[in-house]
Amino acid sequence: MEKSSFNRRNFLKLGAAATAGLVTTGGNVSEAALVKQGAEKEIIYRQLGNTGIKVPIVSMGVMRADNPNILKAAFNLGFKHFDTAHGYQEGRNEEMCGKFFKDKPRDSFVIGTKVKPARDASKQDFLDMLDISLERLQMNYVDILYLHAVDDEEYLHTPAFLEAMKSAKEMGKVKHVGFSTHRNMASLINSAVDKGFYEVILTTYNFRYSNDDDMIGALKRAHEAGVGIVGMKNMAGGWLDEDKTKPVNCKAALKFALSAPYIHTCIPGIVSFEMLMENWSVASDVTLTPADKVDLQLALNQKGMFCTGCSSCVGQCTNNLPVSDLMRSYMYNYAYAYPAKAHETVLSLNLSDDPCAGCDKCTVTCKAGFDVRTKVANIARIRNVPGEFLV
Ligand code: SF4
Ligand code: SF4
Repeated sequence: MEKSSFNRRNFLKLGAAATAGLVTTGGNVSEAALVKQGAEKEIIYRQLGNTGIKVPIVSMGVMRADNPNILKAAFNLGFKHFDTAHGYQEGRNEEMCGKFFKDKPRDSFVIGTKVKPARDASKQDFLDMLDISLERLQMNYVDILYLHAVDDEEYLHTPAFLEAMKSAKEMGKVKHVGFSTHRNMASLINSAVDKGFYEVILTTYNFRYSNDDDMIGALKRAHEAGVGIVGMKNMAGGWLDEDKTKPVNCKAALKFALSAPYIHTCIPGIVSFEMLMENWSVASDVTLTPADKVDLQLALNQKGMFCTGCSSCVGQCTNNLPVSDLMRSYMYNYAYAYPAKAHETVLSLNLSDDPCAGCDKCTVTCKAGFDVRTKVANIARIRNVPGEFLV
């Protein structure tokens, strides 16, 4: 771990120096170098199931990016598939994509967005959300429309949503439909394959699932059924500790995810040019080196901060707390350093001021070994921080 972590830090330092010109000089020289480097690589492409969409194995999660120059550099490097959502940055993320792509040939990129209607939303509510997204994106259609952050089968198969997605396809506003999930994934994937409606699944997948037979079995089954599979949360949080002294070898983690033939492409979140370069380097080579394997094994041996969304904790809490959502929020804040997302998630849970009040002994056994009570107390506080202070 030491040796390769040291190398990674050096790589990042070099990457930062090499790409700094993009920001400070208007980008021409460095950007040309990036494009050249992209052109020299033989990029690996895979098809998203039966959709007919063929994309490089590395795609871009735009979620946290707020610098259009990163989108531009990614596009010029050869990234083709970009993932955003109706709710990211309260719509500004889709707007940024819209501004950037408006003068690009429509067949030069693939865009996926996501909507998360309330459980009792109507078909028309759903379609209205889609129209807002299309307006922000300045597009007539999206290539993939996902039902966002699905946790349970009832939501996945809500008749009004299925009808809305079917209509959207008929109207030409959507090419393919899918859903995204980061909890209870294996059973949702299996359920979607059984019903046959969804064409693409965006799911958490990383080295923490290397021994998860249910998850791997579900993914293989979906792959064989012709469902496109897009992987996310590939770096399992990126850090193993709150103080950020132990980084995950992110390049190795991305290689691990893409070594699985049933993962067709991944959408690492990219917010800097150094991340862009590091992730793109995997698009032409997913070979795990011996040092990569050691790093991932050492990371696996530690608890880390990644909640796998296994749902084993559901129903265990004396106060009926949504422990998995809280642990995911904890991960957003302390591993991803994304307090705004943690804040948004915690606020949506309608917690009391002291969620563990009246409970003497924690009854939750987390499969990842988290000290749930301590983490709940830590993350629940974020709801009292004014949103404008968080990014
Ligand atoms: S300590 Fe908190 S999380 Fe644990 S069982 Fe009690 S209320 Fe639930
Ligand atoms: S048991 Fe632990 S890892 Fe599994 S969903 Fe609950 S908090 Fe996450």
